[in-house]
Amino acid sequence: MHFDLTSEQKMLQKMIREFADEVVAPGAEQRDKEKRFPIEIMKQLGELELMGLPFPEEFGGAGADTISFAIVTEELSRACASTGITYSAHISLGGAPLHLFGTKQQKEAYLTKICSGESIGAFGLTEPQAGSDAGGTKTQAVLQNGQYVINGSKCFITNASYATFLALTAVTDKTKGTKGITALLVPTDAPGFKVVDRYEKLGLHASNTTELVLEDVVVPQEAILGKEGEGFKQFLITLDGGRIGIGAMSVGIAQAAFNRALQYAKERKAFGSSLSHFQMIQQKLADMATQIELARTLVYKAAWLKDQGRKFTQEAAMAKLYASEIAMSATHQAIQIHGGYGYMKDYQVERYFRDARLLEIGEGTSEILRMVIAREISK
Ligand SMILES: Cc1cc2nc3c(=O)[nH]c(=O)nc-3n(C[C@H](O)[C@H](O)[C@H](O)COP(=O)(O)OP(=O)(O)OC[C@H]3O[C@@H](n4cnc5c(N)ncnc54)[C@H](O)[C@@H]3O)c2cc1C
Repeated sequence: MHFDLTSEQKMLQKMIREFADEVVAPGAEQRDKEKRFPIEIMKQLGELELMGLPFPEEFGGAGADTISFAIVTEELSRACASTGITYSAHISLGGAPLHLFGTKQQKEAYLTKICSGESIGAFGLTEPQAGSDAGGTKTQAVLQNGQYVINGSKCFITNASYATFLALTAVTDKTKGTKGITALLVPTDAPGFKVVDRYEKLGLHASNTTELVLEDVVVPQEAILGKEGEGFKQFLITLDGGRIGIGAMSVGIAQAAFNRALQYAKERKAFGSSLSHFQMIQQKLADMATQIELARTLVYKAAWLKDQGRKFTQEAAMAKLYASEIAMSATHQAIQIHGGYGYMKDYQVERYFRDARLLEIGEGTSEILRMVIAREISK
């Protein structure tokens, strides 16, 4: 057992770290202010062949592992969390279900577009009345003359305005409970499909969060992802992988907050010495550094288990739960160390704090993750 990254992972880390510092970070504050989606950055990530990072080369991917995906997501999120969530959702919610459950034809038609960046990846699960309780899905797909007619709505869907298609869940058999839920691949320009981008959010302002409205949207029977009735099971598996992404995002934001807090503590003087000489400030910084190290280790372990083809539900839930909660405390303490300046936009830590709040909610709230962990440890 050892904890070193491979030489490929180290090279990737160096490359994406420089890209994050030189290309992503400089515009992060402005994009946040203007609520401007990082489409140019996504294009550049496509040129760097990172948009299909963990997917097979056969479909235009780079064939890399999940640890590499975690490295890229962490570095992007350190520079700009809106860019981080866009990328994480693109890979783990948009591409992963196709990779895991799609037919060869579906992968050729759709996964290739994810890998090239032609379509930004998105996944429609949550509904106004079905979030944590996704089994309560109300959107319906009715089979008529060999085609599905879909009616319903989805809420809080990341990236959908920039997706040419997405997978979404719908009830195909009301009598079967969660076994009657099916995932369907739907083009976003299909007649009757509306993507509405009008949320006013606390943070992640440059990311795209949408409502989906489906009125008599028709798709062929071949639009089923995998098999009929497997949508619920598929999204549980998809979310296990997605939690590694949110965990990596959390580590990136926490690291950004720590870096700024440490720098400020060294520079800011009070009572004749720099803040970094005060034991109470040192304790905050020591706790932040320890928690970030532990969170990153948990994220890598979950990613490693996934790469080994082993079960990782519990570890991914633990990694996401812990990393998101320490991201909240790290960003909170980073503001504290900055004092009044931390409350102002100029020092960026207030953006980190706002952005971090989503991490405890998306892809399984902290309460739901504790339920998942409790279920797994009592097996
Ligand atoms: C910015 C953003 C982006 C998102 N992107 C996507 C996306 O791309 N695709 C997608 O499908 N969804 C997405 N979501 C939705 C997200 O996954 C849900 O918001 C989340 O799962 C919680 O569901 P909910 O909002 O309906 O809250 P609810 O499920 O109503 O939960 C409300 C509160 O009750 C708690 N609770 C619920 N059930 C229990 C229980 N049994 N025991 C204890 N506590 C419980 C929850 O933990 C939470 O604190 C996104 C959300 C946001 C905010």
